[in-house]
Amino acid sequence: MARHLNVTQLSQIKAFSKPLIANLAKLGIASCQGLLLHLPLRYIDETHVTAVRDLHMGESAQVEGEIVHAEVTYKPRKALIARLEDASGQLTLRFLHFYPSQINALKVGAKVRVYGEVRNGFFGYEMVHPTCKAVGEKSEVAETLTPVYPTVAGLGQASLRKAIRIALQQADMHETLPAQVYAHLDLPSFKASLIALHHPSPDVNLRALDNKITVHWRRLAFDELLAQQLSMRKHYARRRSVSAPQFKPSKQLVSALLKSLPFALTGAQQKVALEIERDLTQAHPMQRLLQGDVGSGKTIVACMAALQCIENGWQVALMAPTEILAEQHYRKMLSWLMPLNIKIAWLTGSQNKKDREAALQSIASGEARLVVGTHALFQEAVRFKNLGLAIIDEQHRFGVHQRLALRQKGQPEPHQLMMSATPIPRTLSMSYYADLDVSVIDELPPGRSPIVTKIVSDARRDEILQRVREACLQGNQAYWVCPLIEESEALQLATANDTYTLMQDEFPELKVGLVHGRMKPSEKQAVMAEFSAGHLQLLVATTVIEVGVDVPNASLMVIEHAERMGLSQLHQLRGRVGRGSAKSTCILLYQNKLSDTARARLKVIYESNDGFVIAQADLQIRGPGELLGVRQSGVPMLKIADLERDVDLLEAAKTMADALLKNYPTEVEQHLERWMSSAGELVKV
Ligand code: ADP
Ligand code: MG
Repeated sequence: MARHLNVTQLSQIKAFSKPLIANLAKLGIASCQGLLLHLPLRYIDETHVTAVRDLHMGESAQVEGEIVHAEVTYKPRKALIARLEDASGQLTLRFLHFYPSQINALKVGAKVRVYGEVRNGFFGYEMVHPTCKAVGEKSEVAETLTPVYPTVAGLGQASLRKAIRIALQQADMHETLPAQVYAHLDLPSFKASLIALHHPSPDVNLRALDNKITVHWRRLAFDELLAQQLSMRKHYARRRSVSAPQFKPSKQLVSALLKSLPFALTGAQQKVALEIERDLTQAHPMQRLLQGDVGSGKTIVACMAALQCIENGWQVALMAPTEILAEQHYRKMLSWLMPLNIKIAWLTGSQNKKDREAALQSIASGEARLVVGTHALFQEAVRFKNLGLAIIDEQHRFGVHQRLALRQKGQPEPHQLMMSATPIPRTLSMSYYADLDVSVIDELPPGRSPIVTKIVSDARRDEILQRVREACLQGNQAYWVCPLIEESEALQLATANDTYTLMQDEFPELKVGLVHGRMKPSEKQAVMAEFSAGHLQLLVATTVIEVGVDVPNASLMVIEHAERMGLSQLHQLRGRVGRGSAKSTCILLYQNKLSDTARARLKVIYESNDGFVIAQADLQIRGPGELLGVRQSGVPMLKIADLERDVDLLEAAKTMADALLKNYPTEVEQHLERWMSSAGELVKV
């Protein structure tokens, strides 16, 4: 039987003051276990003193000596400059911001110990803003490397270090899981790892420590990954124990729909449609993520699932993150389902009262078999007669709570189909998405010619304008995407309006439209409908067109300030062209001069049309937060483990999770308690 895990609350520790506890709470630390797991960002080595003569450029070092010169200069700017001398030479200390107390501490004759990075200055080596302390006759050097922790304003490193030292003395550090879990991975104990990471001995490799590849980091990363796997598997098991309506495979509607289409399904579409069909016959709720690159044809697959549900007498909800996209789905569903005599309701926040009342009424009575809409779908007033399936397009745009709300609209729990065009790299789907089943459409419909991507300096704008003119005069349509201005929505709007005016002046012979996020939904829809119908040739747009918009005749896209956008976002935008059979081009305009990272990122987009490759690069460049989108609200993020660096540990954790759940349920609970308590309550996804 496993020993009980003692979760000491911070308030139980006498040495901790109320303000300290309040500050720790800001860091998300509520218990001693949480404090133990608050690990250093990096370390500084104050375990020995380096002679000035032995300093190296770019390295951080501790130096001790006497101040032989000190002055406050005003040119070129205010600075406190001091010179420190030891037996081997002199070093300049430079402060651009300083307090009177520092002037005092660095008086000529003061004996100080400083720590900082060595740089080449005007008078030889210098340190800018080193940490300084006065030294007495027999000051000792530190015995372990000094940890530097993530912190908040008002909580200094010294207080945090002290609090953690106390936690290391008092907190329960016993092993939660059986020893064999760690034995074959050759990982050290929990306790030894914590001590080694909070107070590393001076002989460890600082670089390995900073890169989190020591065995002690690996032990904790593994524990964290294991906790994530265990909690995801628990969710999965919970779902298997809940009941859902069972739908027999469709006998009529699906084949009638397929017969009416001008195209045949691709092999990949057939494969995923079958996976979904099988899920819907089960007595527990499906939670499947349908993943497929932009243009891979997810909508028709979703429609087939909807028909299976409808044929069995249940209702379907189809939710999209924007009005533009919801409207487009609505029209598409009308064209596919009207011939089958299936009534569809339409629900958005911007409807007038009368239409809304009518929609609500037909949803409640069950007359509407399919409901298409935006967030408006999960509002309180919406009551379904019998919701059997909720389909969520562009799922990463919705928060966990929103999806949960829709799920609660059915009794018993409805099946859920989530769709995403942002491919999830393998490591992400193994970790954050481990509670979902995933189907992948890994093939595009035939006859699409690949999009040609060009990267062009903004200096060549005139040529690009000429190109837009020619394309439009030849009967094609084009998008002009305005720069993303994250800092200010107002500025973004102004830029879009300016661009629109400029384009109208530039192209008197073309019909130009404008669509942006602040327009009324009805205005947006009107513009999109005009563009869709071919009445507008050029559409000036903000990134609102990023998701799902499908206008096959549009074959040219220009994206301004492409270097400001995320890779997956660029890929989504670019996916708005190349949807028909015409040869399509996407021109990425950049502002001189590109940084090296910006150049590397644009190169990825230039070289690849494969959403998976792009998402993988995005994951490496920006971490999982961006790809997870709002999903991360409610799902604890990994703090220690890195999916790429620790992929072997992730695989090991995944392999072990099921057996642990089965054979060691009590131990698993304790492990989760230790690792999840600091992350807040896990929302059931
Ligand atoms: P996405 O996966 O990006 O949501 P859509 O479902 O909007 O893609 O499909 C993109 C376009 O391809 C639509 O116009 C759709 O009708 C069309 N399409 C879907 N499947 C096929 C297919 N098997 N063959 C040809 N065209 C298809
Ligand atoms: Mg889509």
